[in-house]
Amino acid sequence: MRRTPVILSGLAVAALVAAAGATASAAPPADPFARAVGHLKTHSGTQYADGQTFTLRGVVTDADGAQHVRMHRYYQGLPVLGGDLVVHLDRGGAYRGASQTLAAAPRLDRAPRLSAQTAGNAALAASTADSRAVAGTQLVVDADGAVAALAYEVVVAGVYADSTPSELHVLVDATSGRVRDSWEAVQGDGVGHTFHSGDVAVGTTLSGGTYQLNDAARGGHKTYDLNGGTNGTGTLFTSATNAFGDGTLANRATTGADAHYGAAMTWDFYLNTFGRNGIRNDGVAAFSRVHYSANYVNAFWDDSCFCMTYGDGNAAQGWTPLTSLDVAGHEMSHGVTSNTAGLRYSGESGGLNEATSDIFGTMVEFYAANANDPGDYLIGEELRTNGTPLRYMDKPSKDGASADCWSSSVKRLDVHYSSGVANHFFYLLSVGSGASSWGNSPTCNGSTVTGIGRDKAAAIWYRALTVYMTSRTAYSGARTATLSAAADLYGAGSPEYSTVAAAWSAVSVS
Ligand SMILES: [Zn+2]
Repeated sequence: MRRTPVILSGLAVAALVAAAGATASAAPPADPFARAVGHLKTHSGTQYADGQTFTLRGVVTDADGAQHVRMHRYYQGLPVLGGDLVVHLDRGGAYRGASQTLAAAPRLDRAPRLSAQTAGNAALAASTADSRAVAGTQLVVDADGAVAALAYEVVVAGVYADSTPSELHVLVDATSGRVRDSWEAVQGDGVGHTFHSGDVAVGTTLSGGTYQLNDAARGGHKTYDLNGGTNGTGTLFTSATNAFGDGTLANRATTGADAHYGAAMTWDFYLNTFGRNGIRNDGVAAFSRVHYSANYVNAFWDDSCFCMTYGDGNAAQGWTPLTSLDVAGHEMSHGVTSNTAGLRYSGESGGLNEATSDIFGTMVEFYAANANDPGDYLIGEELRTNGTPLRYMDKPSKDGASADCWSSSVKRLDVHYSSGVANHFFYLLSVGSGASSWGNSPTCNGSTVTGIGRDKAAAIWYRALTVYMTSRTAYSGARTATLSAAADLYGAGSPEYSTVAAAWSAVSVS
């Protein structure tokens, strides 16, 4: 019955393009980050001083063109905890002010008196988790109080007695050895025993004496059991013990925990990478539905319900539930595309829409850094019991249907196959051509491409999507859009810019 090619679809993307106007904006000033940093140096009260540098966390652009540039602050190369700020620019790029909590510019000696080993021991003593061990240590500037101090940020990993994972961050004063602060990075008070991603923390809400899969920290994302139905919301997952699933498919909440976790990682990826607060950038969560229909080998995003839906797969035919991390990231990214470029879901723009979801689904997988489903440039590699992925970014034609190189016939392919050209571009831009631990990528013009890394490649693609692409952008326009984005982010004479051009040429897009 289900012999059709398995796809990850994006329903109703074209139908509600008009609704995307809410986040559209008039042409913003170029390079707000550089402007914002420039303003910090020339306006008093910003706590700027020599020795400081900044990295961009995200820009929010208002309908009137005003921009809000969120940044992390560094002092002599050390992250300044509590030094983060937002610089406000008017539509012309002039300074309107800054939002921050930093009371004074840090001035201190960056050489610690305490050893990292001593700091690690102090941090271990601050954790109450079982099986605890130091998972990482870095020197930071703790600028939470009135006077900034040099500190070690020690991450202590462990697990609590109720099997909730712990990732305690402990700030140990690098001079006195005193514990200055600590916080638990594993948020949500529940634990999900997932099918694809192992045991993970899940955001839950206690209501009427039971715990719900309702992630209050991420816009109130809820996950429902459709119980084989194909419409409505079914039943919200609840638990008396705040644990969801048992890692097996006999327990209905197992795939619910997968979907809930995937939504959380996608939310965190967009927020922490691009400063994007939810799919519509309005702080409101979508919701997830699992156990859709019977033996359903697909997953989809639907703008009309603003929700994600996952099938259980088909065990008899070798398919597991469609709730893996990259699929969750893929589906939610359809919502981001719908609310930004609004790429029409057909022809070349449809291929770019699909590729955008594959690109950011892949980035979500890398972001989550989950040992049960580590990052890679494969799509849906967790979904088949024989391990065969749905799609390959290094050489898309390995799936038997996708295009490696642009040609005038690409626009007639199904959007899940015309996406191959852009997936191939993204791989070349990130990793480069030839063999590596990630794959073996050919070029269509015999050239050699040296990658710039996936983080920069994703930043370029995100800016192109949110600032330059429109509903009918085709491959030639995607080249232009990503070149504009690279020029904005890294400069028109930068290696990043020239690599974007080279990677497009390598997939026959000129
Ligand atoms: Zn899709």
